[in-house]
Amino acid sequence: MSTVILVTGGTGLVGKAIEYVIENEPAGSRFGKRPNEKWIFASSSEADLRDPAQTRKLYEKYQPTHVIHLAALVGGLFKNMKYKLTFLRENILINDNVLHASYEHKTQKLISCLSTCVFPDKVEYPLTELNIHNGPPHDSNFGYAHAKRMVDVQNHAYKEEFGCNFSSAIPTNVFGPHDNYDLEDSHVVPGLIHKCYLAKKNNTPFVVSGTGKPLRQFIYSRDLAKLFIWQLREYDDVEPVILSVGEDEEVSIKEVADAIVKAVGFQGSYTFDTTRADGQYRKPASNKKLLSLIGDFKFTPFEEALNESVKWFLENYDNARI
Ligand code: NDP
Repeated sequence: MSTVILVTGGTGLVGKAIEYVIENEPAGSRFGKRPNEKWIFASSSEADLRDPAQTRKLYEKYQPTHVIHLAALVGGLFKNMKYKLTFLRENILINDNVLHASYEHKTQKLISCLSTCVFPDKVEYPLTELNIHNGPPHDSNFGYAHAKRMVDVQNHAYKEEFGCNFSSAIPTNVFGPHDNYDLEDSHVVPGLIHKCYLAKKNNTPFVVSGTGKPLRQFIYSRDLAKLFIWQLREYDDVEPVILSVGEDEEVSIKEVADAIVKAVGFQGSYTFDTTRADGQYRKPASNKKLLSLIGDFKFTPFEEALNESVKWFLENYDNARI
């Protein structure tokens, strides 16, 4: 029996990384392509998943037996704060259409992508899979957060009412090739890479917003891709799994900026604008559940992953999302 794996959002940062891993890991290995598998990486131009008819058509076309659902309206903090209703509605529509089409087409397994934004604002650290719903999320992105939380609720309901094998993954901050490098609306790593590149090109100072002290867990998109492939093939439970490096591998924003300066080869003036807000100091997430299930897994060292991302950005500047 052949396995058809549909990756929604297959043209984004995480989708491209899954495609890379499937094509580049040895065939038949834990993360490589298996002989009976057909992988489909769908973009929004093939089907706008906000629309139920287009979603159904996509499923009719490919008849997926398995789905990794990444498609989402994604944005940096500014966009999230400004368009809360849009983030709420569009993500609810996308998720509802994908989950229901997966049910109607008797998809054997569906893994949807959540985010650590789903966690309550006031919560005990480290974050664990058990405390997603224990209080409201942070006000700045409650639209996106509630839409994502609802996927976990829907997964449980589909399991109870119809016995569906639906689950979800919760990645921490992702970076890598094919990221969104837009200066206004990107996450911290791609935003700083682009800023530093421009500072070098224009011979201007490289100014990092905030003190550089906050700590974050960053996961390389190609490591995350392997974890999604693992979850799809080897994990059969409705409860989500946090996909992240360990709490002991938090990196400060200054360490990120230092590594970028080195990778870009920037030698000009490099400062921190301490008048700008820092955001939360740290919000560590536990990867204990992941490690207890996956066994041996080697994360790419942060600097190595960052160098690969900067190299990709420099080589693909003309076609990158900037
Ligand atoms: P990207 O912005 O890089 O990619 C988004 C993908 O979703 C693209 O393939 C896009 O298609 C597709 N998409 C968007 N809207 C629609 C739509 N209406 N119909 C169909 N497809 C659509 O996102 P990432 O790869 O960074 O994110 C993937 C998942 O990971 C998301 O669910 C996100 O919430 C989650 N996540 C991301 C984190 C991060 O740091 N980046 C952290 C934690 C979770 P197209 O290219 O055609 O526009």
